[in-house]
Amino acid sequence: MSNKFMKRNEHFFQKKMSLPKQIVVALILGIIVGFFFDQIGIPEFTTNYLKPFGTIFINLLKFIVVPVVLLSMIEGILSMGDMKKVGSIGWKTVAFFLCTTAIACVIGLVMGNIFNGAGLFPMLELAEGATWTGTTSSNFMDTLVGMFPSNMWDAFTKANMLQVIVIALFLGGSMLAAGEKSQLCRDFVSSAYSVIEKLMGFIISLAPIGVFTMMAWVVATQGAEILGSLFLVLLCAYIAYAIHAVLVYSVAAHTFAKVSPLKFFKGAFSAMIFAFTSTSSAATLPVSKDCARELGAEDEVAAFVLPLGATINMDGTAIYQCVATIFLASCCGMTLTLGQMITVVVTATLASIGTAGVSGAGMIMLAMVLQAMGIPVDMIMIIYGVDRLFDMGRTCLNVTGDISATLCVSSWQRKLASKK
Ligand code: ASP
Repeated sequence: MSNKFMKRNEHFFQKKMSLPKQIVVALILGIIVGFFFDQIGIPEFTTNYLKPFGTIFINLLKFIVVPVVLLSMIEGILSMGDMKKVGSIGWKTVAFFLCTTAIACVIGLVMGNIFNGAGLFPMLELAEGATWTGTTSSNFMDTLVGMFPSNMWDAFTKANMLQVIVIALFLGGSMLAAGEKSQLCRDFVSSAYSVIEKLMGFIISLAPIGVFTMMAWVVATQGAEILGSLFLVLLCAYIAYAIHAVLVYSVAAHTFAKVSPLKFFKGAFSAMIFAFTSTSSAATLPVSKDCARELGAEDEVAAFVLPLGATINMDGTAIYQCVATIFLASCCGMTLTLGQMITVVVTATLASIGTAGVSGAGMIMLAMVLQAMGIPVDMIMIIYGVDRLFDMGRTCLNVTGDISATLCVSSWQRKLASKK
C-alpha cells in the first residue's frame, strides 16, 4: 500500500466523528426525517422501512444483556478479592453503596411520581408491535420466590434477569469460597468478560443507526410533541441527580468525614467534569483517585473502594432507571402500584450493581427493569435518542458517590485504627 494512500486513510479516520457526535447528528436527522414523514402524511413509511433497523439494534441489545449481567456481576464480586483480608473495608463499602443506591431509587421514584402526578409525563398511543397489554400483578412475595431459579439454563434462555443476578451472586460467592481451586473459573470469567465488553462496544457503536431510525419512527408516529416530553423526563432526572448529590453525598462526607459540602464539591469537581464528558466511571478512575487523595482519603482505601465503586456503585444509573421506568410505564398507560414500586427499587438497585462503568451501559440494564415490570423493552427507543444526555448526569453522580464513599470509609478506618 502506498504511503500516500495510508496517510489519506489515517487522515480520514482521525477526522471521523466521535460516537457521541454521531448520536447527536443521528438524533437530529431522525427528528427531521420523522417530522417530514409526519407532515406529508405517510408516517407508516417509517414503521415499515426504518423501524425494522432499529428493531435489529434492540435485538442485539437484548441478546447481550444476559452475558453482560452475569459476567460483570461475577467480576464485581471477584474484585472484592479475599473477603477476610478486605472484610472490614469491604462490608462498610458495600453497606454504604447499598444504602445510598436504595435512597437514590426512592428519590428517583418520588421525583418520577411528582412529574407523573402533575401530568407532565404523557400517555402515548403506541404503534403496532410496541403495545403494552394488560396489567402486571407483580406481588412482592411472588417476585421473591421467582428470583430463585430451579433451572439455570432456563433463566438464561428466558432472560429472567432477577434469576440471572441470583445465579451471578451464587457463582461469584462460590468462586471466592473455593479459593485457589477456582482460578480456572476466575480466568475464564475475566477473559469472557473482556470479550463481551468488546462486543458491547461494537453494539453500542451501531447506536447512531438505532437512534436515527427509531427517532424518525417515534416522531413520525407520535408527532413532535414527544420531544417536549423528553425534555421533561430529562429535567426530572437531573433534579433527582442534584438532590441526591447534595442531600446524600455531601451530607455523608460532612457527617462522617468532616469535609464541608463546598470543599467536597470543589475537590470532586475535576472527576465530576471528566465523568460528565466521558460518560464512563471506569475511564474516570485515575481522576477520581487524585480527587479522593486531595480530599484526604487513605490511599489503600481509595485503591479498593474506587474501582469497586466504578463497577457496582451506580446511583445515577439507579435514579435514571426509576425515572425512565415511571415515564415509560406512563407512556403505555400503566400506573405502578406500591408493590410494583418496591419491585422497581429492588430491580433498579440490582441492575445498577450489574451496570458496567462504561458509556451507555445503564440503558442496556434498563431493559432488565422494564422486563421485570412487564413493560415492552422496545419502549426504550423512545428515550434512547437522548440517552447520552441522561448518561452524562448519571455518570457524574456515580463518580461523586464513589468519592464520597471513599472519604467516609477512610474516616471509619482511621477511627478503628485509633481505637486499637
Ligand atoms: N455510563 C455510566 C457509568 O459509567 C453507566 C451507565 O450507563 O449508567 O457510570
